[in-house]
Amino acid sequence: MHVYGWKEASGHPASDRKPFPIGESECACCYECETQCPVQAIRVVFGPPKAFIAAVPLVFALIIVSVIYGIVFGPYLGLSIPFYVGWIILVVGLPFFFSPSMYFPKAQEGKSVMDTRAIVDSGTYGIVRHPQVLGCILLMCGSILISQNWLSAIVAVPIFVLFYRYVLKEEKNLIVKFGNDYKCYMQRVPMLNFIVGIMRLLKSRKHE
Ligand code: SF4
Repeated sequence: MHVYGWKEASGHPASDRKPFPIGESECACCYECETQCPVQAIRVVFGPPKAFIAAVPLVFALIIVSVIYGIVFGPYLGLSIPFYVGWIILVVGLPFFFSPSMYFPKAQEGKSVMDTRAIVDSGTYGIVRHPQVLGCILLMCGSILISQNWLSAIVAVPIFVLFYRYVLKEEKNLIVKFGNDYKCYMQRVPMLNFIVGIMRLLKSRKHE
């Protein structure tokens, strides 16, 4: 993944150069280097891209402001059916959004709950491969329908694009990390389409 380069370490008793992380954002969190370093000098910590982290407060602000606007002033366009559909989407989005805390094993000390070395495919991860991102998208869609304010929709568009690009990059990393197991998981479970995911899940339960 071209994460490491070399750094001069002249005068060091063991080596005059050392590996140095020059492309940390390319790390797939496969933990190979952490596992193989003979002196356990490497600790890989899972972290989404900076742009994704920066967008999270904006997402929450958008959802909260839109919902409060819809409750206090009513839907901007005055359409009652989309208003109630928005609430349903909001409720459906919540379990997807909280998926990591519900289905990932308890985090090791100092590590994120996402720092896992095994594929999690239970619960909402058996419906879509990226339930938290889907949860964010559903919460945003729900809140937009509740407020029916154009400004919310305009702010949401670049966030949707950012999320989609994040998911595509994450998919590449997960293939590096889990190899064929992840490719099999990709064949079983769709990326974000939860309707297809539910249908496939019901079909596989029926065959069992
Ligand atoms: S965790 Fe994997 S992808 Fe990341 S730097 Fe180590 S070996 Fe490379």
